[in-house]
Amino acid sequence: MNVSKPENLEEAIRFLSDHQEARIVAGGTDLLPRINQKLEAHDTLCYIDDLPEMSGVVVAKDGGVFIGASVRLFEIAVNKELSGYTALLQAASKVASPQIRNQATIGGNILQENRCMYFNNQVPWSDVNHCFKWGGKQCFQYKSSKECVALFQSDVAPVLIAFDAVAVICGPDGRRELPVEELYLKAGRKNIAHNEILLGIKLPALMEGVFSAYARKTIRGSFDFPLLSCAVRLVTGEDRVIKDAKVVFGSAGVMPAVFQVAEDVMVGKKINELTALADTLKPAVSKVIMPFRDTRVNGPVRKDMAKEVFSKAITQIEQVT
Ligand SMILES: Cc1cc2nc3c(=O)[nH]c(=O)nc-3n(C[C@H](O)[C@H](O)[C@H](O)COP(=O)(O)OP(=O)(O)OC[C@H]3O[C@@H](n4cnc5c(N)ncnc54)[C@H](O)[C@@H]3O)c2cc1C
Ligand code: SF4
Repeated sequence: MNVSKPENLEEAIRFLSDHQEARIVAGGTDLLPRINQKLEAHDTLCYIDDLPEMSGVVVAKDGGVFIGASVRLFEIAVNKELSGYTALLQAASKVASPQIRNQATIGGNILQENRCMYFNNQVPWSDVNHCFKWGGKQCFQYKSSKECVALFQSDVAPVLIAFDAVAVICGPDGRRELPVEELYLKAGRKNIAHNEILLGIKLPALMEGVFSAYARKTIRGSFDFPLLSCAVRLVTGEDRVIKDAKVVFGSAGVMPAVFQVAEDVMVGKKINELTALADTLKPAVSKVIMPFRDTRVNGPVRKDMAKEVFSKAITQIEQVT
């Protein structure tokens, strides 16, 4: 095994550029289990979680916040500078278990691999019947699909999108920034090159009257990937009338799903009118949730959960206003 621990960013990018086969490791809680389970084989790893450019939570002059990609999820859940980003704290504190949150980074969380019951098994499925993710020519989840449709189950990504966060990425050609929403591509691919490193996330300054919440549905109370989740961010004005809203579902498909219909309907309403909206939004909501089935839940049930997680998030906001 060729393991590199570069001392600075330039060295890391050079190593990745020189080793096309190398994989980045941050906390390792997503990648290393897949290697151990022989779902993936990599003999060149590049550990980047100590790089100074990727550490810490820094408040910018305009009131926005930069979160280094190596910041651990447990740190996010207790960080005072982030206390106004309620939904982010809630999402970070719900990931997996305390042990995993102590090790897992925010960068690794939003770049984690998509998951599917056919792929994420200890024993590789038949050598003959490989699916797209194994380099094969079919999908067992949706027989008619022309590409992998495995679920993206990050708890943190939907919240960052709800806050209009921006990803800061560095590669051989320098730095670039893009909305977190644009990190996600079809078939579970991510909009980041093999030799690029996510340095961190920029969160815009909190506006006056902002409220946010994150809710998720799981089989177990803790240590479980979400079946479906929902991040809501609202900006309110006088009399708690909503001026701006963003609603994003997680574990809803190959990438987080922005629920534009809800945003349009919510603007102009008062916060205490929102719970009643959940019923009227049901037909629209089911269109943004993919009918993905896994060992825990079938497709139609996942769609039915949308109203529940949306209402849960809204109720949390109502309770603090
Ligand atoms: C038992 C278990 C339960 C889990 N439960 C949850 C859950 O409930 N919710 C949830 O969201 N996740 C869950 N996870 C998934 C995952 O462990 C976490 O999301 C974690 O945050 C991943 O972060 P990491 O730093 O360990 O990632 P790593 O494993 O280090 O990296 C993940 C991926 O991102 C890439 N990467 C990491 N950092 C960078 C960077 N800075 N630049 C470019 N590429 C990078 C790596 O190459 C790799 O492909 C769970 C994992 C396990 C094992
Ligand atoms: S969604 Fe289809 S292609 Fe993707 S891992 Fe599952 S079975 Fe394989």
